Amino acid sequence: MPRELAGNGIAKRVYTLAPEANMDEIKLEGYMKAGRALARTREKVKSWVRPNLKYTELVRLVEEDLVSQGVKPSFPTNVDVNDVAAHYTPGLDDHLVIPEASIVKVDLGSHLDGLIADSAITVSLSTELDELVTAAEEALSAALKVVAPGVRINEVGRVVEKVLDSYGLQPISNLTGHSIGYYELHGDVSIPNVYVDWDLGRFQLDGVYAIEPFVTFQGRPARVVDSVPGGIYIVKKNRRIKDEDAARLLAEINARFKGLPFAERWLTDVLPRPRLEAALRKLISEGILYEYATLVEVGSRPVAQAEHTFIVTKDGPLVTTIV
Ligand code: MN
Ligand code: MN
Repeated sequence: MPRELAGNGIAKRVYTLAPEANMDEIKLEGYMKAGRALARTREKVKSWVRPNLKYTELVRLVEEDLVSQGVKPSFPTNVDVNDVAAHYTPGLDDHLVIPEASIVKVDLGSHLDGLIADSAITVSLSTELDELVTAAEEALSAALKVVAPGVRINEVGRVVEKVLDSYGLQPISNLTGHSIGYYELHGDVSIPNVYVDWDLGRFQLDGVYAIEPFVTFQGRPARVVDSVPGGIYIVKKNRRIKDEDAARLLAEINARFKGLPFAERWLTDVLPRPRLEAALRKLISEGILYEYATLVEVGSRPVAQAEHTFIVTKDGPLVTTIV
């Protein structure tokens, strides 16, 4: 919970930039605006998620709320229920609704001119699953406390595992946090939620990162596997294409999203429906676009997620995604 972070002294300190910082005040302000707007929307998600709500309605609420605050979504809002851990966003004809007694992860992102915030909240609709949420939030909170310039990235996995172990729970080993760049949601650095003994590098002063523990019950080792396509697309390799509709669609995608992930619902004004779908398929089959697969827990166990974005300052992490 973001408020808990503030209470723990992580968020409410006054941060000053180091003299060698390449993070200037304007950029910092942009990151904070994107993060605060995202956090305000994220807090509303708790009251929006209820049984029988359509996924399409939930993402509309999230994305309209972001836009009303003057920021843009940095990726399509993910709605991942129960054993679906990540990468599902509703398609145009989506009829899915939030099931009773489920656990719902809403992963949302914003950006202000390419300065990105990425955060997630899990809503439990079953008392038997509440502990997964509490544990994910506590693991995230504990991980943030060890962040400082020069700290090894693999300290995060150590801390996350330790917290979850105390709950009798475990992290998903193959879903990680990540560095964030300008118009780049997933930078080069991965931040695993399990301890690995090889060198993953160190947190850099002024670096922007997201930490995101995914939590499930103990038993066989927890990991995710690819499932059905999830409706989230990204430009993989830009090149010329002859097909007129596909070329026009690609030009719009590049102009609007600048390398960030997107959904079909954000493009319905470009081409009429059947031609939009054909052009999208064409760009995928030509290897220009990539469609993410939904990621499902291998043992079909329910999953919780917590996530914050932060900037590493000399005093520690400055969490951008808090109100
Ligand atoms: Mn996220
Ligand atoms: Mn993320």
